Amino acid sequence: MKKQLLKAVYDSEEFRKKGHILIDQLANHLADKLQEKSKNAIYWNEPEEELKFWQDFLSTGDEKAMFSKITERTTYVHHPHYIGHQVSPAAPITALSGMISSLLNNGMAVYEMGMAPSAIERVVTDILCKKVGYGDASRGFLTSGGTLANLTALLAARKAKVAYDIWNEGHSESLGIIVSEEAHYCVDRAAKIMGLGEKGIIKVPATDGYEMNISLLENYYREATEKGIQIFAIVGSAPSTATGVYDNLEAIAAFSQKYHLWFHVDGAHGGAAIFSKKYRHTLAGVEKADSLVIDGHKMMMMPTITTALLMREGKHANATFSQKAEYLLTQADHEDWYNSGKRTFECTKNMMSIHWYTLIKAYGEGVFDEYVTHLYDMGRFFGEMVKEEPAFELAVAPVSNIVCFRYVKGSLDTEALNNLNAKVRQHLLEDGKFYIVQTKLRGVHYLRVTVMNPFTTSQHLRMLLKKIRTYAEEVSSQLNLTHRSF
Ligand SMILES: *Cc1c(COP(=O)(O)O)cnc(C)c1O
Repeated sequence: MKKQLLKAVYDSEEFRKKGHILIDQLANHLADKLQEKSKNAIYWNEPEEELKFWQDFLSTGDEKAMFSKITERTTYVHHPHYIGHQVSPAAPITALSGMISSLLNNGMAVYEMGMAPSAIERVVTDILCKKVGYGDASRGFLTSGGTLANLTALLAARKAKVAYDIWNEGHSESLGIIVSEEAHYCVDRAAKIMGLGEKGIIKVPATDGYEMNISLLENYYREATEKGIQIFAIVGSAPSTATGVYDNLEAIAAFSQKYHLWFHVDGAHGGAAIFSKKYRHTLAGVEKADSLVIDGHKMMMMPTITTALLMREGKHANATFSQKAEYLLTQADHEDWYNSGKRTFECTKNMMSIHWYTLIKAYGEGVFDEYVTHLYDMGRFFGEMVKEEPAFELAVAPVSNIVCFRYVKGSLDTEALNNLNAKVRQHLLEDGKFYIVQTKLRGVHYLRVTVMNPFTTSQHLRMLLKKIRTYAEEVSSQLNLTHRSF
């Protein structure tokens, strides 16, 4: 067998040639989007249409055009008009570290399968732990996403707080966690995976300002325990995804100490504020948390998907997936921090630590401060802009870079306004100039903006509001509804 095809697959000169072409293409893409040479943040296609394109391309498309077609026919997170979901416009240097990870393909589960990235992971997570304010006993590791990290943290919590050996024997008692009704749905999902059931997810209502209502904690805790549910953890959002509002971590910490609960902070979005001198206060109390999740691909300019799970007492991470409660032994023995697969849910993972390290080495930690601070400033600024416009209403004054608002002009009822705002968002999507998202809060349909791009300016945001207003007015008049122009 000559293996001609396989030789072609692994041809290093071919790689060099295509790689150079691709880098040029991506650099052009970056320049086009950042400088708005491309007008749109997205060129919307219906899913069936897009499917047809790629089915056809597979048989008749020009292979040379493949990478550029993929790049073109999708969402441009580097465009300043991309202000939708909470994904970073990846720092270009992390596309390069991503390439190293893809080509070297070290599996990372054991030290031998990724020596440099394993050691680097320790360096990076030590920096993060220190930044949180954790002591020497703290440790962290990287894992594939906030969803998985939250589940892992809750598994660690259960192992640490529940006296009997559920891992081996299964549930014999009702267990539960306390969480705000505004928490990310993945916390709910994690609890269900753990077999807690609906009754084991004690959802504390949020205040009018969408943060966990602390004054209800005692009652909800008492009610649950009276029903025979053993609460082992409480989760704070920092901030909650829909509204960008932070729970009161100090108060939750105090509550968790009183009842010996594991205190987990879901900082997937805003945990990065540990780096912001100006916004560090949003996380006050986080150093008391037993565990904290921070997504690198959200507020830290990294490519999907890389998440840090940090623990105040690192030994708990060693016990999460261990067959016995043997972490005290491993501690006395020696700590093999370098075999990350023992502590992560996944076995193989990518060499994600190099994105963090590369950014810190190339630009210094200060780059995270600048990024988070600027974006939070912009979110608040946009909040002010919306507030000044009588045609619009904020769901809540923004405290981060997430802003929920809606068009409210005219004398429409909630349902009509919901329809109107949903129509506006669909129009924006199909138009493609701006990419924003939407969310429902207590039955009210809101438009939702997350300022993720440091080059989104107040002018862009003004243009967005103008576009929404113009379109909303058009729709209202089509619907033959009363409305005055201003
Ligand atoms: C995005 C987000 C998650 C989920 O994280 P993934 O990395 O998307 O899995 C969890 N919690 C919060 C608060 C988030 O914002």
